[in-house]
Amino acid sequence: MSGDEPVSKDEPVSGDEPVSGDEPVSAGAWRAPGRANLMGEHTDYNEGLVLPFALQYGTTAIAARRDDGKLVLRSGQAPGEPVTVALDSLAPGSVTGWAAYPAGVAWALGEAGHEVPGAAIDIDSDLPEGAGLSSSAALESSVALALTELAGLAVARRELATIARRAENEFIGVPTGIMDQSASLLCEAGHALLLDCRTLEITQVPFDPAAAGAALLVVNTRAKHALTGGEYGRRRAECEEAARQLGVPSLGYLTNAGDADRLADPVLRRRARHVISDDARVRAVVNLLRSASPGPAVYREIGALLSRAHLSLRDDFEISWPEADVTVETAESAGALGARMIGGGFGGSVLALVPAEALPAVRAAITEAFRLRSWTAPGFLDAIPSASAARVA
Ligand code: ADP
Ligand code: MG
Repeated sequence: MSGDEPVSKDEPVSGDEPVSGDEPVSAGAWRAPGRANLMGEHTDYNEGLVLPFALQYGTTAIAARRDDGKLVLRSGQAPGEPVTVALDSLAPGSVTGWAAYPAGVAWALGEAGHEVPGAAIDIDSDLPEGAGLSSSAALESSVALALTELAGLAVARRELATIARRAENEFIGVPTGIMDQSASLLCEAGHALLLDCRTLEITQVPFDPAAAGAALLVVNTRAKHALTGGEYGRRRAECEEAARQLGVPSLGYLTNAGDADRLADPVLRRRARHVISDDARVRAVVNLLRSASPGPAVYREIGALLSRAHLSLRDDFEISWPEADVTVETAESAGALGARMIGGGFGGSVLALVPAEALPAVRAAITEAFRLRSWTAPGFLDAIPSASAARVA
């Protein structure tokens, strides 16, 4: 299968099929989407379940081979001189700033034994950065596809996701899980991607809110998150400690939220309760989406689960932020079916599920709530479950 063929909806996609393997190409353009996560936050590194879907917004890498072994990197979102790096000098720490993302992908491909050529790569994106919509994975995935197809390499998408994650973890130094790269490289249009982060099993779950008269609204709260900040690492450590005290390899092994009550420490108890209950909410959403014909009643239930997840993230995991709390409360009062913060926390976006006819009122109410508090006006994106990365030219 080549990366740009539509994937049959009925065929389970393992992600193990090679994405290319044809002749090397000398130039082209590859686009990879950002993602929103419908349910399952901070469950990825706990070996639990996540349920992201790809956005119609993303990042394009226009790339052409160079025969001098150099990467010449430009981005429309990073004004300034192009960054030139030699492939044979790549090592973690050798490139800083935004160019570390594409350079890190080239490095990780090399570490995995895939020889890639030098290339001039021009990046452009319509995805807001640092808004919790995974602009970093979109950048990595577009470059990973570009470099492998320029080289004529056959690399399965799952492996590409692992390679892009390694770039982010080891070359850039951000300790994220496998969700973002998997979403960008494996999602299908009209579906959410159920990813079991322990077994790495993936399942396409039909997800078409528009058919039930509902819409997905992403609200960029303009508070920028930073995964390198200490809180993300602290949550990871707390989850590891909670799992250790509960006698399991990770919290994703537990399915009963009551298990958290066995923890003596109230902070660890709250952290574990969030992870176990969010995992259960992923399963609940998947079961709802698999019901015979998911109509408005099903989406009302999914909305309620989103709102419950927000309370769990706010009160048990304690990673929400004021703009997100106000967005969620305002969306709910203005007619949303439910809403929650998405992403790592302390900044980024809110995902709201809204009856289509209530969209204008919900947007207006959120804009007004921000204006009243003298906050920077929020950004709105309509989210439509979209296809994964592909060659576009
Ligand atoms: P998120 O993935 O939620 O958007 P991250 O902090 O993980 O946030 O990644 C954002 C970083 O990724 C930016 O600071 C920048 O270094 C890099 N980045 C993402 N998109 C682009 C782009 N189009 N051009 C240059 N750098 C980008
Ligand atoms: Mg990111």
